[in-house]
Amino acid sequence: MTAEKFEFKTEVNQLLNLVIHSLYSHREIFLRELISNASDALDKLRFAALQNKDLLGEDTVLRIKLFRDAQAGTLTISDNGIGMTKAELINNLGTIARSGTKEFVEQLRKAQDGPELIGQFGVGFYSAFMVADKVTVNSRTADGEANSWTSAGQGSFELGAAAKSARGTDIILCLKKAAREYLDEYTLRQLVKKYSDYVDYPILLDVEREEMPKDPEGKPLEKAKPEKKISEEKLNSQKALWTKNKNEITSEEYNDFYKHISHNHANPLEIIHYAAEGASEFKALLFIPERAPFDLFSKDHSLGLNLYIKRVFIMHDCQKLIPEYLRFLKGVVDSSDLPLNVSREILQEDAQLEKIKKNIVKKILGALKTMQDKDPEKYLKFYKEFGAALKEGLHYDYENKEALADLLLFTTSTTEAGKYRSLAEYVKKMPKEQKEIYYLCCETPAQGAASPHLGALKAQNYEVLFLTDVIDEFVIPALYEYKGRKLQAIDKAGFKLGDEKAAAEKIKAAQKNLGGVLNALKSTLTTRVQDVRFSARMTDSPCCLTADDNAMSAQMQKMLKAMGQETPEQKKTLELNPDHPLIQKLNALSAEKIQSYGSLLYNQAVLADGGKLDNPQEFTKQLNELLVKTLEV
Ligand code: ADP
Repeated sequence: MTAEKFEFKTEVNQLLNLVIHSLYSHREIFLRELISNASDALDKLRFAALQNKDLLGEDTVLRIKLFRDAQAGTLTISDNGIGMTKAELINNLGTIARSGTKEFVEQLRKAQDGPELIGQFGVGFYSAFMVADKVTVNSRTADGEANSWTSAGQGSFELGAAAKSARGTDIILCLKKAAREYLDEYTLRQLVKKYSDYVDYPILLDVEREEMPKDPEGKPLEKAKPEKKISEEKLNSQKALWTKNKNEITSEEYNDFYKHISHNHANPLEIIHYAAEGASEFKALLFIPERAPFDLFSKDHSLGLNLYIKRVFIMHDCQKLIPEYLRFLKGVVDSSDLPLNVSREILQEDAQLEKIKKNIVKKILGALKTMQDKDPEKYLKFYKEFGAALKEGLHYDYENKEALADLLLFTTSTTEAGKYRSLAEYVKKMPKEQKEIYYLCCETPAQGAASPHLGALKAQNYEVLFLTDVIDEFVIPALYEYKGRKLQAIDKAGFKLGDEKAAAEKIKAAQKNLGGVLNALKSTLTTRVQDVRFSARMTDSPCCLTADDNAMSAQMQKMLKAMGQETPEQKKTLELNPDHPLIQKLNALSAEKIQSYGSLLYNQAVLADGGKLDNPQEFTKQLNELLVKTLEV
């Protein structure tokens, strides 16, 4: 049968280009990537064989083997795993299955640290082209379908039938001249030790040794010449790191293991290794990465830990082991309670898994609290990367709400640039008479600091939390209270502060003395606001907008609009500051004159609220007219 020719998808070409060029100095990782694919293929077969033993046939010893051919200049990575059908070869090695690829390619293009990103996205196989001019993949499934895929990594690949008699996949690399070092026994040994020592299957290599011929009793023959012998050696130790005691493991071993399971090049930020006893018995070795992957908030992000039962690998990314808000965790769980013949269906239900998950959540939240207390700098690093994901837990994980609330950090109206406050610290600093915890949704701390709503709070020395994360507005109000103190938004109409009697008197006096201003503005702004009234909440600003107690913030409305969602029109109330000279001076003008300034006042309040003007031209025109008048004087 003649071979068929296929073109790579555009994104594969782009990726190939980037991988080959930006990762060249890390090219040795190709071996780790291909071994890891082989190990995955063996995992898949082993899992499928739990249900259907016939799949294994006589080929029952699962292994990875490296073959070298110095004359042909080829290195072959061979596995007797699940294999690929023709369609799988086309899909897996001709496209990039996951969406969001463009974004990834873009990031890789921009990033200085391309190597950090590779592997997070399943570009593993393509790394073969860093060391090979031509790559051939011969693959045979358990059903006996065998195909051969070949490419020089230059835009296209060919597919044809393969004469392959054993199940599994052989990746044959025609090494570039400059990459012939990967035929060297010592180099391969080092690389396997460095990157793939923990792989669960033996990684084998034929090595040549000189041996003295022996007599029938096994004694070396004297005077004989040494003979060359080929023997198969195992290059990896296959040891399960998580089963060892903590004090027997070096930090280098931990880091290497993390890199192995996460395909990450950086060391982890935190390592959590423990054995749970009691209600459920398991060992867990968990890692918090140093940096968030670019797709942490996309639905494609992988979630879960690798699950083992009594040291037998069961599955990657077992989603039942951690809640979604801890999706940044990487690691391994090895249970001794689960039955070894589990099926995927059982894994969906198992109450044991639920227990393990609960235990892990408690452990991680505890570890984060310790980090926050003992090493705030490290915690801040964590929080900046993963805080937004963690906050999702406030919404979904009622049971751990308090522990999660303790882990929150905020910039506030009194924190210095770059400094953060926890809720516990906030409460501790509260003046005695302050009853509630105050917050304001805003886009940036600077915008929050300039908000007219802050005035009266500042005057009382009350601190205000700035909620600048998009998710804050969903989750913080749901928290409702912290240690018995209600969380209160300061830009809501119902918000009251300080001496209510004095405020009421002030408003009453204003209505009497400045009633003309109020009425004139009310009549001109009827279509734009719900109401106009005096209030005592401001100090330096002439006016501000307040929303109904359960209304969305301007920030949220803007976000929904950007997402193309209809937002119901929510008219706000314009509040006037009777102490402000502008309001007082307006009082001297005719109703008509006051009305002519109405929209200017309203628009500046919209801006101060972080909102968007409906008609910016109107605003600039009025502002300019006013400036001209001032300059004429
Ligand atoms: P990733 O391994 O991250 O998914 P790769 O580009 O390395 O990305 O591989 C793409 C896909 O090709 C794999 O997900 C797997 O389905 C398939 N594949 C690669 N190598 C093998 C192999 N040795 N045996 C079976 N399938 C393989």
